[in-house]
Formats: sequence, C-alpha cells, structure tokens
Amino acid sequence: MSDLVTIPARRGKAAFVAAGQTVRVVNTHGEQVVDTWAFNRHDLTEFMSMEHSRSGMRRLIPRIGDTLLTNHRRPILTMTEDTSGGIHDTLMAACDRYRYEGLGVVGHHDNCTDNLAQGLAELGLVPAETPSPLNLFMNIPWTGQGELSFEPPVSTPGSHVSLRAEMDLVIAFSACPQDILPINGRTCRPTEAHFAIMA
Ligand SMILES: [Zn+2]
Repeated sequence: MSDLVTIPARRGKAAFVAAGQTVRVVNTHGEQVVDTWAFNRHDLTEFMSMEHSRSGMRRLIPRIGDTLLTNHRRPILTMTEDTSGGIHDTLMAACDRYRYEGLGVVGHHDNCTDNLAQGLAELGLVPAETPSPLNLFMNIPWTGQGELSFEPPVSTPGSHVSLRAEMDLVIAFSACPQDILPINGRTCRPTEAHFAIMA
C-alpha cells in the first residue's frame, strides 16, 4: 500500500491509478463527504458517469461487487470493500460557486467543482467538464414519494471504501467544503480525508 495521501479539508487531490490497482478512500474523521471522479487516463472525455453506472448497477448506491461505468458504458471502477455503512450518493451534482450563491453566500466559497480542477491541475491536466461525482459517504435518503433530503453521514471515523481500477485512470477527490447544510456532519465543519493506492 502506498502512503496515505491527504485530501486537505475543503480542497481537492488527484492521482494516477493503473488498471488493477485499488484505491482505498478513508473517511478519517468520519463525517466528511468525498466527491470522487475517475477519468480514462488516455482520454479525459471518457469518465465515470453516475447515470450510466446507475443503469448498469440498477441501484442508486453502489455496493460491494458493483462496477461503475464510464459515459461510454465501460467498466472504470469496482467497489471491492466498504466499511462505512454503505451510504453514498450518486444523485447530487458537485457543489460549485452557483450552489453557494443560491445558499446566500456573498463572495468566494470553496467548492468541489473548483477542487476537481485544482486537483487535476497539480497533475498538469484540465477536465473538459465536471462530471456528476460519486459522492462517497454522502447521505441523501429518499422516500417512497421520491423526496430527497440532505443528511449527515452515517460513516464512522477511519471507515473506508476500496475501489479497484478497471482501466488506467486518473482519480480525483474533493473533501467537500459544504458548511451550510449538514452533509459533512451537524457541526458543519469540513475536515480532511485520506486515500492510498494499493497494488
Ligand atoms: Zn461539495
């Protein structure tokens, strides 16, 4: 296993992952949502797609053994471990400046969309767009009537998810800086998280 890499609180981090390697994402402090993207290493216009993945999985939330698909419907990541309680989100767009403007923020607010660009920029890459992320540890329950709500995570400190790369890819994370809604815990205090790449 590689050393643990920090996804700093309110920031992004990205890494290259070879096909067959596994990425372990650790919810270090237990209540931090980690927006997760994966791009084909050789063609950034092919990326993990939540809408294509839901179609392939026939589920709203991936479980152990489920494979996430790209916008070309090819396998890109398989969930191989989950000690977090199994609550994640595939429905919500990444937060962005417009989201915070809508929540009444005046001026700059850190956001996952900028964090994706920042994380990839550290690798010399530019995303063509901001795909809808796999929101690890994010708790968006739904009712039988289809109503959604934003709730605190149920994951515990140190719990983790493991994702196996099904192609050479670039993985990117954002420790979501949402501090207005309680999606990062009722105290609304975003924290760091970590990941490691295993052979
Ligand atoms: Zn966010």
